[in-house]
Amino acid sequence: SRSEIAYFGAGPAPLPTAALEKSAEALVNFEDSGLSLAEISHRSPTANKILADAKDALATLYDIPTDEYDVLFLHGGGTGEFSATVQNLVGAWIEKRRRKAVAELGEGKDAEVLDRVRREIEAELKVDYLVTGSWSLKASQEATRLLSAKYVNVAADSRKSNNGKFGKIPDEKEWKLTPKGTAFTYYCDNETVDGVEFPGFPKSLESTGGSEDDERIVVADMSSNFLSRKIDVRKFGVIFGGAQKNLGITGITVIIIRKSLLNLVPPPTFLHALSPVIPLSGAIPPIVFSFSTIAANNSLYNTLPIFNLYVATLVLQSLVSTWGSQKVSGQEAIADKKAALIYGALDAFPDTYHVVPNKSVRSRMNICFRIISGAQTNNEAVPDDGREKAFLAGAEKRGLLGLKGHRSVGGIRASNYNAVSEENAQKLAGYLVEFAKA
Ligand code: PMP
Repeated sequence: SRSEIAYFGAGPAPLPTAALEKSAEALVNFEDSGLSLAEISHRSPTANKILADAKDALATLYDIPTDEYDVLFLHGGGTGEFSATVQNLVGAWIEKRRRKAVAELGEGKDAEVLDRVRREIEAELKVDYLVTGSWSLKASQEATRLLSAKYVNVAADSRKSNNGKFGKIPDEKEWKLTPKGTAFTYYCDNETVDGVEFPGFPKSLESTGGSEDDERIVVADMSSNFLSRKIDVRKFGVIFGGAQKNLGITGITVIIIRKSLLNLVPPPTFLHALSPVIPLSGAIPPIVFSFSTIAANNSLYNTLPIFNLYVATLVLQSLVSTWGSQKVSGQEAIADKKAALIYGALDAFPDTYHVVPNKSVRSRMNICFRIISGAQTNNEAVPDDGREKAFLAGAEKRGLLGLKGHRSVGGIRASNYNAVSEENAQKLAGYLVEFAKA
């Protein structure tokens, strides 16, 4: 039964049992209406209420200044946002320049405006990426696919100073950020596969107190540490995340976006005329990924999966009622405590366990480690496949599930998301000690 197992899957991930039970009821007969939530119109008052409740709860938890920021829900997962952030924000960058050119050159000077914007794109357009793990790497590769390499600046790549592997975040002094005027600067706050989490908001991306045009537009992928710590939303242009870790079930993506980035959509004919200076794929989102369109339609431009949203709404509301005035800081304290328990057990047995990432960037959400044989090559611990298999088999016997590392990196990964109870984190820590001693 559910109470006998402790699940540490990386995503889809465990959800609070109460939210699942209430959702299960709603899937068959929502609040005794005789209808399933999966059967009702996404434009019905019921659906609108679920959407409004989700937005309210999220705004409460993160202290979102709702006059300046909008919350959107859409399809496409985290991966959809790898593309959508590029297309929307590059489109916005172009539109700002187009408007400026029109203002300076005057109406009716279409050819001159086009020529000026083309030249500006060639000379100035950049998107900056901090590549600190598999997901930001994928995002940067998508940017290159859509825009071409010419416009993509990989400002940092953790592998360069770490034997070709992820596991640290390069010192900010080594970052090669474009000084100013980028369409956006992108990072992944928590790298799910590699167990690397930014300890906080990067200093180099802080506001410089300049004009809005001079400020960096920061895009952060928070798919795997959403709602696990306090953030200052005002530092970000766009925050996004797939739901299937800390928020709900897969099928919806959440976006928190600065409103001043909306409604900067170049006329399609203007974009078409820019080609071949810039590939159109880099500046025109499919309509279902157009942030301005989704925002203008309160996330109901097309059929939003209301049942999936409902699960998220329940999770959000339960966080609001659990933490009250502490808001997300309450959850942060528990996340820190559970992570400390598990890392504590790992660190106590350095002959058995090797935590993969550097200590200063250890993720509180995805705890990635190897089981070692004690031998060392080039000062590096050698993973012991046999011991790892034995560890996983023993874990399964004890009902500790979902611990196998990502197929691309192997090893063990314990995902410590919000719905993992302290009791289950304790069970895992207990098993880590027991295995190391045996
Ligand atoms: N970003 C991060 C940090 C992720 O962990 C994941 C998926 N695990 C993704 C993006 C991709 O999300 P999706 O599968 O929802 O497209």
